Amino acid sequence: MAKTKIVILGAGYAGLRTLKQVQKEHLDAEITIVNKNEYHYEATYLHEVASGANPPEKISFPIMSVVDQKQTNFIQDTVVMVNKDEKTVELAKNGTIEFDYLVFALGFESESFGITGVDEFALPMVDIPTAVKVREHMHAQFAKYNETKDETLLSIVVCGAGFTSIEYLGELTQQMPKLVKEYNLPADKISITCIEAMPTLLPMFVEKLSTYGIQKLKDRGVKFLVGTPIKEVTPEAVVYQENDELKEVKAKTIVWTTGVKGSSLVGKSGFEERRGRVMVAEDLTAPGYPTIFIIGDCSAVMDKTCDRPFPTTAQIALKQADNVAKNLAAKIKNQPIVPFTFKSQGSVCSIGNNEAIGEVMGHNLKGYPASMMKKVIENKSLMTTGGMKVMFEKGRFDLYH
Ligand SMILES: Cc1cc2nc3c(=O)[nH]c(=O)nc-3n(C[C@H](O)[C@H](O)[C@H](O)COP(=O)(O)OP(=O)(O)OC[C@H]3O[C@@H](n4cnc5c(N)ncnc54)[C@H](O)[C@@H]3O)c2cc1C
Repeated sequence: MAKTKIVILGAGYAGLRTLKQVQKEHLDAEITIVNKNEYHYEATYLHEVASGANPPEKISFPIMSVVDQKQTNFIQDTVVMVNKDEKTVELAKNGTIEFDYLVFALGFESESFGITGVDEFALPMVDIPTAVKVREHMHAQFAKYNETKDETLLSIVVCGAGFTSIEYLGELTQQMPKLVKEYNLPADKISITCIEAMPTLLPMFVEKLSTYGIQKLKDRGVKFLVGTPIKEVTPEAVVYQENDELKEVKAKTIVWTTGVKGSSLVGKSGFEERRGRVMVAEDLTAPGYPTIFIIGDCSAVMDKTCDRPFPTTAQIALKQADNVAKNLAAKIKNQPIVPFTFKSQGSVCSIGNNEAIGEVMGHNLKGYPASMMKKVIENKSLMTTGGMKVMFEKGRFDLYH
């Protein structure tokens, strides 16, 4: 009898952890994982690459270090389409592959919310190439300043004040003294502005923590515009609304971190979705498709305590992956599935390398202990997916004060 074909799309948090766990099941199956790059990257650390705090190699490792070649075939390619009824996946270079079970874990994309000029003039930060582009673009503006003395070259606008924006601002402000020296810039002329539509900053944390975090950034020179929705991005400015008036901040580096949506391939492949996310069944399959699991940022799981979907995070993506591996084995062996349940362990938002704010298992943390906790969590995740070697090579061991 032919072996069961399991295909995993995406080697991010969700896809690679699924592979790691499903290989442990030693199923009578042929496993294929498809990813556009030969490396996995820790998306939660993209802001470090964008700010220049760390090179791309620090936050990535080869997918092959998780692949057990006796069970799994890795195809480096771009997924173009999933034909859910035919049970096939179209790839850009390798034609069409068939599956019996599919794990759709293609992650997130930048969300422009239809605002004019975002796609043309703002810089998203959603993968390694875009994070590198943010860093290179800012460096290029700084290099030009000494020729032209145009002060908009020293102005950076970060659009949105969610988790990603705050973590980026934390690293960027820590890198700034080095950049000022490197490019011989007038420090007092550097301008960093963060523009947020919502009236409150970091509402996911208690006020004491969010105030602490925001004050740290203000002390490092960040100016916050709050309750001021962005209306347009132009080549050299961000236009926002304050009360009934349109105003602008001039800048040559405009970083777009207002939020993300799930992969556009979700909709393109005909799944019922909202912002690239499918409301999945209790076994994490797409409604009506019991052999197609959709996990990570392409999925939505209801939090019954507040009747809203859980925020998409690496934390839930990893838990979903563990559950999918078990349920894949259960389905193949005709055993009962284990419904997915999730309880957030909390979250930690870094404000540079040695500062953070967070809530972990009911405990509020700030400053150095919070930053240490974030590194411990990351190391544990690296260990579980990548193994000991990956954790020692890529982990965070600068736990000093
Ligand atoms: C700066 C930043 C900080 C964050 N901080 C936190 C945090 O502290 N805690 C937390 O829990 N979450 C955090 N998040 C969110 C977290 O990173 C995401 O929720 C998580 O990455 C989702 O995992 P995923 O596996 O669904 O997708 P991803 O990690 O995006 O992986 C998707 C994979 O699919 C590949 N892929 C995409 N499209 C294709 C295609 N067409 N063909 C082939 N391959 C493709 C990609 O290359 C990638 O390898 C942060 C995100 C950012 C950007």
